[in-house]
Amino acid sequence: MSAIHLKNLTKSFGDFAALKTMDLEIADGEFMALLGPSGCGKSTTMNMIAGMEEPTSGRILFGERDMAGVPMGRRGVGFVFQNYAIFTHMSVRQNLAYGPRMRGAAKAEIDRRVGAVAEMLQLSPLLDRKADRLSVNILQRVAIGRSAIMEPAIFLLDEPLSNVDAAFRAVMRTELKQLQRQFRQTMVYVTHDQLEAMTMADRIAVMDHGVLQQVGTPLEVYNNPANVFVARFIGAPGMNLLKGRPAESDRGLVVDLGPLGVTPPLPDELASAVRAMRGDVLYGFRPEQVALAERGLSMPVSFVERIGARTIVHLGDGESAVKAVFENDVGLSVGQTAVVAPPASSVRIFDAATGLAVK
Ligand code: ATP
Repeated sequence: MSAIHLKNLTKSFGDFAALKTMDLEIADGEFMALLGPSGCGKSTTMNMIAGMEEPTSGRILFGERDMAGVPMGRRGVGFVFQNYAIFTHMSVRQNLAYGPRMRGAAKAEIDRRVGAVAEMLQLSPLLDRKADRLSVNILQRVAIGRSAIMEPAIFLLDEPLSNVDAAFRAVMRTELKQLQRQFRQTMVYVTHDQLEAMTMADRIAVMDHGVLQQVGTPLEVYNNPANVFVARFIGAPGMNLLKGRPAESDRGLVVDLGPLGVTPPLPDELASAVRAMRGDVLYGFRPEQVALAERGLSMPVSFVERIGARTIVHLGDGESAVKAVFENDVGLSVGQTAVVAPPASSVRIFDAATGLAVK
């Protein structure tokens, strides 16, 4: 049985459909990321799970229990927002103890839980510090601790790391994942940052314009994006997509590059799927999967970005621009021509009209 089941869930604000349809099952103990660009309906979905917004239609089940009409306080969810909700006049200890105290827990039990959560979130040395003397980073840690101490069966986090600095964000990614492993809570984590989703989540629900685009493990959405949106959104940089069309001969496809086009190798199954198509296709490959080769896509180098040991080489321009990522300096510079080839097995093809992956 799933911990959370969203069934045909929709939400409109007046005429505006913020969530057009959502069907999603989140397993008990699963870390699910809701990932998508700003305005895609992530927070709206989360707020309905929390009980802060009423769905326009559809159902939300926790286990077998329908949550319609169940107020937030009775749902057994912990919620951490982008903006930490902390009592600044209280100490870290008092902030952490607040929830259990309000629930009437015994002093010894409160002390034990505060100690355990503080230990886990590295707040032990700061327990007696007043919250108004803490940095934004630490405040967000306290906010997470305040929610975690209630040991909710379901933990909802809405962009909890977007206000903390980059170095701290990297630390917190690891800590949050450990926290969830330790408590085996069901976590739903809203983010627009695919790195956060990719590093922490068991599965990712990718959303765009109020529509769920794909649900899968980080590797599934990375390797086998269901459509062009997911292909571009997942990965940094996203998947390269070049226009092409089925070849007249039986060679699979022709990619529009140069006056004659290029006919890159495809695995047999994909080549026959492409041959069966009528319209244009998009030839997709990950920037990390290309290698310099004798034969392949011959393109001018337009820009070279060096990020430490990593090099991102920009090739071509306009509609036929692609990026290639190398883990070392491959010695290419602007103006040179590079020949790159993605291995046939890593190529993905999309129907240019529908944007859907061709299988
Ligand atoms: P962000 O990261 O920017 O919050 P999001 O994916 O979480 O993005 P939502 O906050 O769910 O997006 O908003 C989805 C859409 O619904 C947006 O276009 C937003 O402007 C709109 N929206 C959200 N809440 C309301 C509201 N109370 N009234 C009207 N429109 C709303």
